[in-house]
Amino acid sequence: MASSDTEVLVVGAGAAGIAAGRRLMDAHIDCLVVEARSRLGGRAWTMRGNSEFPIDLGCGWLHSADRNPWREIAEAQGGSIDKTPPPWTRHSAPIGFPLSDQTSFLQALQKFRQQLHSRCEDEPDVSAATFLEPLGQWNALIDAVSTYANGAELERVSARDVSRYDDSGVNWRVVEGYGRVIAAHGAGLQVMLGQAVRLIDRSGRRLRVETAAGAITADIAIVTVSSALLAEEKLLFSPALPEKTEAAMGLPLGLADKLFLSLAEAEEFDKESRLFGRTGRSDTGVYHFRPFGRPQIEAYFGGRLAAELEAGGEPAFVDFAIGELTGLLGSDFAHRVKPLHLHRWGVDPFARGSYSYAMPGKADCRDMLAAPVDDRVFFAGEACSRSDYSTAHGAYLTGVDAADLAIAARRGRQSS
Ligand SMILES: Cc1cc2nc3c(=O)[nH]c(=O)nc-3n(C[C@H](O)[C@H](O)[C@H](O)COP(=O)(O)OP(=O)(O)OC[C@H]3O[C@@H](n4cnc5c(N)ncnc54)[C@H](O)[C@@H]3O)c2cc1C
Repeated sequence: MASSDTEVLVVGAGAAGIAAGRRLMDAHIDCLVVEARSRLGGRAWTMRGNSEFPIDLGCGWLHSADRNPWREIAEAQGGSIDKTPPPWTRHSAPIGFPLSDQTSFLQALQKFRQQLHSRCEDEPDVSAATFLEPLGQWNALIDAVSTYANGAELERVSARDVSRYDDSGVNWRVVEGYGRVIAAHGAGLQVMLGQAVRLIDRSGRRLRVETAAGAITADIAIVTVSSALLAEEKLLFSPALPEKTEAAMGLPLGLADKLFLSLAEAEEFDKESRLFGRTGRSDTGVYHFRPFGRPQIEAYFGGRLAAELEAGGEPAFVDFAIGELTGLLGSDFAHRVKPLHLHRWGVDPFARGSYSYAMPGKADCRDMLAAPVDDRVFFAGEACSRSDYSTAHGAYLTGVDAADLAIAARRGRQSS
């Protein structure tokens, strides 16, 4: 064991845990971060493997980049910010999707979003699918977009939660990788890697945190594991915290997986362009061609389709992607593309999904999950964010908030 006693123990070294740890370290508070994986970053993960370029298997876009704290951190680290507007804000190549249809689809999507944002705070917390136009021509494709954005189809998603999401509309990227920035921000922290916390025993005066390598005592804990893991009770509390399990069950992790493909003849496609695999159904992939101008395709699959493909492993993703792409680009295309990387977030034991959505009626579970317990067990992570959930910057902000609450609790304890 590196340490069996600490003042504040942070469970998890993803965006939230690293942000919390850094805040505590900067305040000169004794802090230990315990991480189940053998690397920092959690769902933020830049890797190279057999790719010529760094690729982000988890978060890639600095959403709300004009107010995103990771942007400044990336710049301070010497990272390069790419400000090319994202493909979803522009028309695609008219392959299998004529420009007039694209315009009609974008209008339908905008109308759907306006309806949802204007009406749902006054109504019961219903499913987002309620706001689709009955028998609307583009409903299936709007649903496909939900599988990318929420990791779930609209019928599974709370309209109120979606309406609370706050997006400035500015989306940038870090050339060297978003995951790399987040992991690098953890440099200097006291971290134990490869140790999953199993139990936080809060029956005594001090907390007893159990890992496979032994127990660690702490005054305060900040828990940042994903809502899926809390719902599955992979991390236990004694006495139990049923209100946290219930809140987490209202906030399942949606599923979104990226498959990276390399292109033999990149020049035949525009940089930063994209295609939907099919436009008349929700179970379709979306293909981002030449991100950063690189000879690659970033294929994105969400919701039930991603879950079905995960069951078939990497070959199922590759077959599906090649099937959709050859349907659009001709059968020869199969010879000009090669799989590079995929990560199946749904079967990842330390995530169990990609990002949280709230089920209909469960929008307020985010506040329930974030609420401190006894002023010594604090919760952070993207699912705890009311308006920046599902994102790496939302995770960051909840981590800093939890650390500030821990600092205040510690001060209160010292003065009493
Ligand atoms: C495919 C994909 C694309 C995405 N795209 C974007 C994007 O473009 N922009 C964006 O902002 N966000 C995106 N996200 C979401 C973003 O990556 C996450 O919201 C964010 O990284 C979550 O951070 P977190 O700290 O809340 O959770 P995590 O990163 O899950 O951190 C929790 C940590 O706890 C660890 N852990 C789990 N169990 C235990 C245990 N028992 N003991 C100790 N440690 C444990 C985990 O290993 C993990 O490191 C994407 C995610 C995916 C999967």
